[in-house]
Amino acid sequence: MAVWNLGSINEDIVYSVPHIPGPGETLAATEKRHYLGGKGANMSVALARSGAQVKHIGALGADGDWIVLRLTEMGVDTRFIARTAQGTGHAVITVDSNGENAITLWPGANREIPLEMLQSALSEARTGDLFVTQNETNMQEEGARIARDMGLSVAYAAAPFDAAATRAMLPHADLLVLNAVEAEQLREATGQGPSDLPVRDVIVTLGARGCDWVRGPDILHFDAIPVTPVDTTGAGDTFTGYLLGGLDRGQPMPQAIGQAIRAAALMVTRKGTADVIPDLLEVQEFRP
Ligand code: ATP
Repeated sequence: MAVWNLGSINEDIVYSVPHIPGPGETLAATEKRHYLGGKGANMSVALARSGAQVKHIGALGADGDWIVLRLTEMGVDTRFIARTAQGTGHAVITVDSNGENAITLWPGANREIPLEMLQSALSEARTGDLFVTQNETNMQEEGARIARDMGLSVAYAAAPFDAAATRAMLPHADLLVLNAVEAEQLREATGQGPSDLPVRDVIVTLGARGCDWVRGPDILHFDAIPVTPVDTTGAGDTFTGYLLGGLDRGQPMPQAIGQAIRAAALMVTRKGTADVIPDLLEVQEFRP
């Protein structure tokens, strides 16, 4: 089966600076690096590394050739990535010598995914495929509707949290993945806890404490694997990618969660994001 991921793709541009510049200040950076990023792209890479057949639905600007190349090299089907007038979405990340950062995010093409691209992608989907989306693009609700009508299961990662988008998506989702902070924000926005939501399966990730699987009134807890964290960036996207990769291969939920927990634990021992998401063999051989 295939996994259809409607998601953001960013260029993360990281500037090293002596200190984070204040209002009105001009400061020369000492180093510039750039990486592939965005929650959607990270999730596609995690899905591909977990062995899933993943098809990314998204948008880039005319400057996005290197990203298409990177994603293709990593095993992601990029045929449904549109090119739009806005430039590629990017994050300008300023990091000081203490590791403190400030981030300016430009969504760019991520908010301009054309309906026709979504429709043409999902016209190739098959009953039993999975559809997944997050909160960094347009077209989520349309995508979920079309996917559901075609007999696909819909997974939704409610991140970064957006009350209106999440409210609109809940009726279309079979699986919701959110972290503890997002679960609290959702409770504040709707008055509903994970057990009260109109979604069959809810996974609440709890960082170093693991995760809860909530199905109606039943809650099953899974411990994280104890590791010494080096960089937790991308842990959530790796977790969700591996979880869906497992479900797509027909694994029962507890087994897919177990694999996601191993992949995310290995990920937090590595510095970086998309480029260092582990592959299935590394996850299986991981002995913490
Ligand atoms: P991020 O935004 O940092 O990518 P997140 O906030 O979406 O992550 P978390 O709940 O922090 O999600 O982490 C997702 C999963 O990663 C957890 O359920 C857990 O399995 C694993 N994980 C995160 N932090 C640690 C840690 N310190 N040690 C072991 N596993 C961890």
